[in-house]
Amino acid sequence: MIKKVGIVGSTGSIGRQAVDVILRNKGAFEVVFLSCNSNIQELQKQIALLKPKFAIVLDGNKGIKKIDNTKILHTISDLLSLISTQEIDLLLSAAVGFSGIRPTYEAIKSGIDVALANKESIVSGGKILTYLAKNTGSKIIPVDSEHSAIYQCLMGNDKDKVASITLTASGGPFIKRPDDSLSFVSVEETLKHPNWSMGAKITVDSATMMNKGLELIEAKYLFDVPAEILNVVIHPQSIIHSVVSYIDGSTIAQLGYPDMRTPISFALGFPERVNSGVNTIDLAKISNLTFYEPDFNKYKCLKIAVDVLKSGSNVLMIAMNAANEIAVELFLKRKIKFTDIADIVEKTVYSFAEKEVSDIEEIFEMDILARQTSIKICKTEYGV
Ligand code: NDP
Ligand code: MG
Repeated sequence: MIKKVGIVGSTGSIGRQAVDVILRNKGAFEVVFLSCNSNIQELQKQIALLKPKFAIVLDGNKGIKKIDNTKILHTISDLLSLISTQEIDLLLSAAVGFSGIRPTYEAIKSGIDVALANKESIVSGGKILTYLAKNTGSKIIPVDSEHSAIYQCLMGNDKDKVASITLTASGGPFIKRPDDSLSFVSVEETLKHPNWSMGAKITVDSATMMNKGLELIEAKYLFDVPAEILNVVIHPQSIIHSVVSYIDGSTIAQLGYPDMRTPISFALGFPERVNSGVNTIDLAKISNLTFYEPDFNKYKCLKIAVDVLKSGSNVLMIAMNAANEIAVELFLKRKIKFTDIADIVEKTVYSFAEKEVSDIEEIFEMDILARQTSIKICKTEYGV
């Protein structure tokens, strides 16, 4: 059966690789719509290849009504109504940042399965989204490589018998840099990830290790496990994508070359396996896999995220995510130092009490409040 798919964020790093996977599996998928923020050039190429019925350009030239036979729409409500009315089987949620929560929520509310790359939505709305998914029957299949690994290591096993889950982290580009030199790193150095080629925001998150912090929270909600069983280990080669250990002493790992097309194809094809274009690893050629504990003094964002995870408060999770988005954007614009990111996040998070919000509108309100708070901190303390 052909799977009908909608893609949010098709022009990004995940979106382009998803298009690559879809094109390798002729007859397996029909793309009903594509969407981007403003990159019409890339969208046009994708329209020519995939011939979707619709494409949404949220921030582009509103005069464009059609490209080839594809109808072009321009608003977030157009996107949300396509999700709920077009009878798609799967939404690939691959926008960057908190804005991805609206389409993710809409798909889950409509009982549509979600291939989830947009981790910011599950960090901010984890409890609500997963509870809603249980009620509507929507399956959330992770795209994030660690969560795809964990998902696969849990398959066919009893979750009650899990002793611990360990997410691997590459350690980013500054793995060998001493802590006290990090205030001086440039945007260019930060964007040079050793193993993965990704969008700018997640590449900065990998360098601060906020990415792993977001992923710990993502894992808690996606797999409905207590915070205490989640760990992080640095594994610079990025071959083991995460492991699950069971009470009988078995540890199950998922391995593969660091290429996002593997977890993307797993999420798109699920429960079938489809072609990804990625070779399987040659164990004999991989001579050296190393692991060590992360240094919380160096990776302050990871420490903040672990504390926020342990607090269990979604107000703090939303605040952390929002402040991080603001700070990363300022860093990319060269307005603050690399090390200011953690400071801004910390100050924002701890200006809020450990509370819970319980519906989607409150999540939006809390996100706005957290952004206003961190913008104020940036103005008064950093002059930006
Ligand atoms: P990119 O920055 O490469 O792409 C982002 C995509 O989202 C683009 O298509 C962009 O459109 C679109 N977009 C931007 N703003 C909005 C908006 N307000 N509403 C709707 N769409 C928008 O990001 P990545 O592909 O790297 O990451 C996407 C998500 O996947 C993130 O949440 C990231 O954390 C997660 N992820 C990414 C991985 C990777 O390898 N890249 C790995 C694991 C998770 P336009 O091109 O027009 O700007
Ligand atoms: Mg990841």
